[in-house]
Amino acid sequence: MASAMVKRNILLNPGPATTTNSVKMAQVVPDICPREKEFADIMRDLGKDLVEIAHGNVDDYTAVLFCGSGTLNIDVCVSSLVPENKKILILNNGSYSARAVEVASYYHINHIDLQLPTDRPIDLAVVQKALEENSDIAVVYCCMHETGTGILNPVKEIGALAHNVGAIMVSDTTSAYGLIPIDLKRDNLDFIMASAQKGLMSMTGLSFVIGKTKEIEKSAKYPTRSYYSNLYLQYSFIRDKGEMHFTPPVQTIYATKQAIKEYFEEGEKAKQRRHREVWETLWNGIHKLGFKTAYPKEYMSGLVVPVMYPKYSDGREFSFQKFHDGLYEKGFTIYPGKVEDVGMFRLCSLGAIYVEDAENFLKAAEEVLKKEDLMPDSF
Ligand SMILES: *Cc1c(COP(=O)(O)O)cnc(C)c1O
Repeated sequence: MASAMVKRNILLNPGPATTTNSVKMAQVVPDICPREKEFADIMRDLGKDLVEIAHGNVDDYTAVLFCGSGTLNIDVCVSSLVPENKKILILNNGSYSARAVEVASYYHINHIDLQLPTDRPIDLAVVQKALEENSDIAVVYCCMHETGTGILNPVKEIGALAHNVGAIMVSDTTSAYGLIPIDLKRDNLDFIMASAQKGLMSMTGLSFVIGKTKEIEKSAKYPTRSYYSNLYLQYSFIRDKGEMHFTPPVQTIYATKQAIKEYFEEGEKAKQRRHREVWETLWNGIHKLGFKTAYPKEYMSGLVVPVMYPKYSDGREFSFQKFHDGLYEKGFTIYPGKVEDVGMFRLCSLGAIYVEDAENFLKAAEEVLKKEDLMPDSF
C-alpha cells in the first residue's frame, strides 16, 4: 500500500486532533460497498471495541454509530431519550451543554435549562435541589469535560443523584472519551458519546453514542422527533442487519479501525499520561511566557489550557490573529476561546502529540510573540 509521508501539523485546537501517519494511510483502501459482509465485520468489531474503551460489558452496552460530527450525538440523545410527559434536566455550565439546551428547544422537548456558573465544576447541591423540585425528570444531562473552558464536571456523583430518583444519566464525553478515565458502570453513566476525531485520534465523520442496551430498547416507545438522528431506529438497523441505516463514512471507519489498534497498543494508562504530560508542559510553559490562565488548576480536565489575552501597561491590544498566523506558518494551530466577553485562547493536548511537540510549540510561541511585539509585560 502507498505510504507517503504527509506533512505533520501540530493541532492544539480542541479536535480534530493530530493523527499518526499510519491512521492517515489506513484510509487508502480498495473501493468497497459498505453493504458487503467484509465491511459489516469491521463495523461489528468496531462497535465492541468502542464499548470496551469505556470499560463497558458488551452484553449490557451498545455502541450506535452515526455519520456526522459530534454534535449529531447530542441531537440523537436529546431527541431520542425523553419519554412522553417527562423532562430532561440539562446542567448547563458551558457552551457544549448550552448546545444540548438548543437541541431540546429546537425539538420542543420539555427541558430544564439549569444555568450554572461556567467558571467552575457543577455544584452537586444545586443538582440535588433541581431533582427534588421536579418529580418528572427522566433524563439528567451534562457535559463531562466542557471543552470551551477545560473544566471537568463530577459526572460520577451527578449520575448517582440521577439514579437516586430513577432518572438516566447522559453525558457528552466527546472531549473525554479515550483521553481521561471513563468506566460506564463505575461512573454511573447510562449514555456517553464521542466522535472519532478527538480522543481516538482518527478522522472526522464518525460519531457514536454508547448506551445501556436495555434503555435503548425502552426508547422504542418514546416520541419520535427526528428520523435521521433517532437512536432506536439506527440501533435496530445495526442490531438486525449489522449495517448503519444509511451510507457510513467508509474511509473514516478504516482509519478508526487503525486508530483503535494504536490506542490499545499505546495502552490506556500510557496514553492518558502522555496527554497529561503534554498539558502540564503547555500549562507551565505558557505561564513562563508571562501569560495567565483563566481557571484554577484543580478544576481542569488536564486537556485544555485556557489562556487569557495579556493586558499591556501601554494600552496595546493583544492580537490573537497575529499570534495564530505566526504559529500556523510554523505548523502549530491554536484556537480561540469560547466564553463570551472573555479574551481567551486555548491550547489542547488531544492528539498524537508529545512533550517534545509542546516544547517546540513554546519555542515557536516565544519567537512569534517577540517578532510581533506581543510578549506579555510580565515576561
Ligand atoms: C467537539 C465536541 C463536540 C462536537 O462538536 P462537532 O463540531 O460537532 O464535532 C461536542 N461536545 C464536546 C464537549 C466537544 O468537545
